[in-house]
Amino acid sequence: MSSALSVHGVVKRFGNHVAVDGISFEIPKGCVYGILGPNGAGKSTTLRMINDIIAPDAGEISILGGMKPGGEAARSIGYLPEERGLYPKMRVIDMISFMGELRGLSAGEAKKRAGAWLDRLGLSQWAKNKVQDLSKGMQQKVQFATALIHEPALVILDEPWSGLDPINAEVLSEVVEEIRSSGRTVLFSTHGMEQAEKVCDAVCIIARGKKVLDGKLKDIKRAATAEGLVALGFADDAAKAKAEPVLADKALVTEQRPPRPGDVADCEVKLAEGADAQRLLAGLLAAGVALRRFEMVVPTLHQIFVDKVGAAAAVAERRPEDAHA
Ligand code: ADP
Repeated sequence: MSSALSVHGVVKRFGNHVAVDGISFEIPKGCVYGILGPNGAGKSTTLRMINDIIAPDAGEISILGGMKPGGEAARSIGYLPEERGLYPKMRVIDMISFMGELRGLSAGEAKKRAGAWLDRLGLSQWAKNKVQDLSKGMQQKVQFATALIHEPALVILDEPWSGLDPINAEVLSEVVEEIRSSGRTVLFSTHGMEQAEKVCDAVCIIARGKKVLDGKLKDIKRAATAEGLVALGFADDAAKAKAEPVLADKALVTEQRPPRPGDVADCEVKLAEGADAQRLLAGLLAAGVALRRFEMVVPTLHQIFVDKVGAAAAVAERRPEDAHA
């Protein structure tokens, strides 16, 4: 499959600070791709370079079969920037049509599509109001429409779910799904791993400007599951006590954790490298441990991320002086 976007070794510095430090990833056409990471990781900066808002200090960006950022490529992209901005005094329907015309649609076609988008987003009754009369969430939906009206081959959305209530978040997820079904490509950024997990085919996770891991979500999950996290449930306290010496064997288990929220397991254990679940099970049974549950855990994306970068790096990474961001 040919690629919708290829980013290779891209670097961006602001003064002494390296915001994006040699990031590379490749997005196949027809894919929903998430660039994920905590605040300050370098996501928006990466998207801005793809959209020619700022220029990289090093590296290559190739869009839809070889175009460079800006110019011709920009016409094939629909971009929702992080800093949202519409003309507050313009009527909603005119705002969307205007953006359609700017992207080459005839006035009639732009108006028709703008009307259809307002219907789709549940905003028809607001068509003739000024943009400033709408709530923040509604304005955000209008801005989606302005980014999507020309049916771009590559849709780039910076933190699109932020500020949306659950119902509108669901509407956006459906729109993303529709774009995928039409064979087009979506790239979005988010710090919300749960959201990404629901809609992405593939992800690139970054922290402190560097790539932590990338690939298809199902391959990432499969690999992390194989790394061995086992949820254990004991029949009673006596069984739990009998299990302790087995779980203390560092050749078998490297870490014991409490179960994840909402899970009824007694604990989760991480298998030592080279140890497999069968050996742990055999060890527990040999020690006479009565088990209620023994199950390989499929870790969440957030858990995979924390395992890779450590809990401290997984939270917001803003430098103290980053008041503007
Ligand atoms: P994210 O989108 O992952 O939250 P950003 O790409 O916005 O992260 O920012 C990455 C880092 O670069 C942050 O430390 C941020 O403060 C810094 N940064 C971003 N834009 C600028 C700028 N125009 N000038 C200086 N520093 C910036």
